[in-house]
Amino acid sequence: MLASISYNIRDIEGLVFLIPSRLRRFERPVENNLRKVVALLKEKGWREYILMADFPTVVVSSPPKGNFGLLFGREIDRCRRVFFVDSGLMAKQPVAWIASALVHEATHVFQQNYFSHEEMENRKKKEVDACGEQLRFLGRLGGVRWYMREIRRMLKKSRGWWEYLDNGPTTKQERYWAKRRLLCERIHDDLTPHISF
Ligand SMILES: [Zn+2]
Repeated sequence: MLASISYNIRDIEGLVFLIPSRLRRFERPVENNLRKVVALLKEKGWREYILMADFPTVVVSSPPKGNFGLLFGREIDRCRRVFFVDSGLMAKQPVAWIASALVHEATHVFQQNYFSHEEMENRKKKEVDACGEQLRFLGRLGGVRWYMREIRRMLKKSRGWWEYLDNGPTTKQERYWAKRRLLCERIHDDLTPHISF
């Protein structure tokens, strides 16, 4: 029981996912989607990339439209990396998009291993770099042009999606993300005694 939610641990081809054990109706495809996600990564030769990054993914119950995802990294807590992600995203988004999100987060792990201190301070550089890897993965798939365009559009916006972390949230969307971040920090604290981070 973590934050009064119990989780099932699923090891899918070596990738570890924590999934709320009592899924609501809209969340039921989560586990099935994750199996398809891992199968797609494997088929395209990217499973090893995620395996090397070595982070568990914790699916956190959210509203169906929930779209929050954040890697808790070494720079925050000096322990094992964990990716927290909304159940809405995992249940409702296409398999190719979820797989590309894991590629994006794995890239953030490698940045923590290999980037200089100056590079790690530069959130925009980190996001551009992770999106570059995400686009490289999506480029190997068919029928995902819309998502590739969307990533490029998001990167061109005058305010990046990461800026609320430094400057505080200003939109409804950013306020939602800030709230989810606090919730995930609480869950992270609850998880720490149970998983050897
Ligand atoms: Zn990112």
